Amino acid sequence: MAGISYDDETRGGAPLVKQPQRFLRSCWGVSPQGLRIKGEVRERLKRYAWKAYRLARVSRVRIPPSPHFLFIRMNQKEFIQGLPKAEVHLHLDGTLTPALFMELAKESNHPLSKRSLSEIEKLIVVSKPMRSLKEVLGVFDLIAPMLRRPRAVEKVVYELCGKAKEQNVTYVEVRYAPILSVTADFSLDEVIEVILRSLKKGEEDFGVKSGFIVTLLRNAPRKDNEAMLEAAKKFFGRGVVAIDLANDEAGYPLELFKDMFEEAKRCGIPFTIHAGEVYPTKDFGLALDLGVRRIGHGTSLVRYPDLMQEVARRKIAIEVNLTSNIRTNAVSSYKAHPVMKFLEAGIPVAIGTDDPGLFGIDLNHEYSVLLKELDFSQSDVASIAKQSFDCVFKGT
Ligand SMILES: [Zn+2]
Repeated sequence: MAGISYDDETRGGAPLVKQPQRFLRSCWGVSPQGLRIKGEVRERLKRYAWKAYRLARVSRVRIPPSPHFLFIRMNQKEFIQGLPKAEVHLHLDGTLTPALFMELAKESNHPLSKRSLSEIEKLIVVSKPMRSLKEVLGVFDLIAPMLRRPRAVEKVVYELCGKAKEQNVTYVEVRYAPILSVTADFSLDEVIEVILRSLKKGEEDFGVKSGFIVTLLRNAPRKDNEAMLEAAKKFFGRGVVAIDLANDEAGYPLELFKDMFEEAKRCGIPFTIHAGEVYPTKDFGLALDLGVRRIGHGTSLVRYPDLMQEVARRKIAIEVNLTSNIRTNAVSSYKAHPVMKFLEAGIPVAIGTDDPGLFGIDLNHEYSVLLKELDFSQSDVASIAKQSFDCVFKGT
């Protein structure tokens, strides 16, 4: 920045930052090595960079952005990339990108393969908040037919392992309702075997360790859930690490599945439950009674202070999916997300993507939201990354 006077308002005509050196020093003072950039200071830095940019444009002088600003941007990205992470809330069918969807549609000669990539994107990517969870769930009905062949399942699982590696995710717990892939030629056991085999291959090729969670579906026929529970029992300890309950919480309360989770407990199979993604819900209390080990989403837990205290006392981790919660309208904005309240209450959290393909995100994006939108410090974020390893089901 040598030789450029930021005090010279005539140069660009735009109101410039006066005495930039002092301004920058004050930033350094507050944030040595860019480690604690928060709130107002960050806003000032953004404004500063914008003004420097405008000045550069009108004066045709190439002014490097504030080195501090650059440092923070680079540093945040590198910091998140460098953090070893565990992803424990990831739906196999939610990882399909439009490109992969298209590839699978073509392979199976599905009518949607005639559509353009941008049309597919409009159909399966939820890039804006929807009215409800139920509306988002509708997208999975389009995805399901693409996963009814062993080769397709294999490809999706293998691809998600590769993406995990790219983001320095060293352990991933993938969840899925395997019944969704079953056909006359593809049995429930075979679906699970393909998933486990592909995860193993992912580990060999990418070094990403993994576990598989069998997801029971609230909206599925009872016999399907019973079959999946039996399969989970059969494969538990051979790659299956837990069971889960997902889908329309408002329409199908946990009460309807109580006996199945009691059975899982009898068999020593730990479980997580998607609960409190909607409000009101009775699922938290029952999930605690049943001995839930983790809670998926749990966004409305803050509305039940006694239960929240109990979750904290038992150190039950909450699988937090920030962007997903906005897109399903569980929270109104990142700022309104209760993740900080969970941490303040002493509840461990694990950051996940839920459905990265569906929401057009990845895990690094979700971690960056903690820094950029929620003003977490890097040390907070590092401790959250560690918590995600502490709550994995593997080895239990
Ligand atoms: Zn989920």
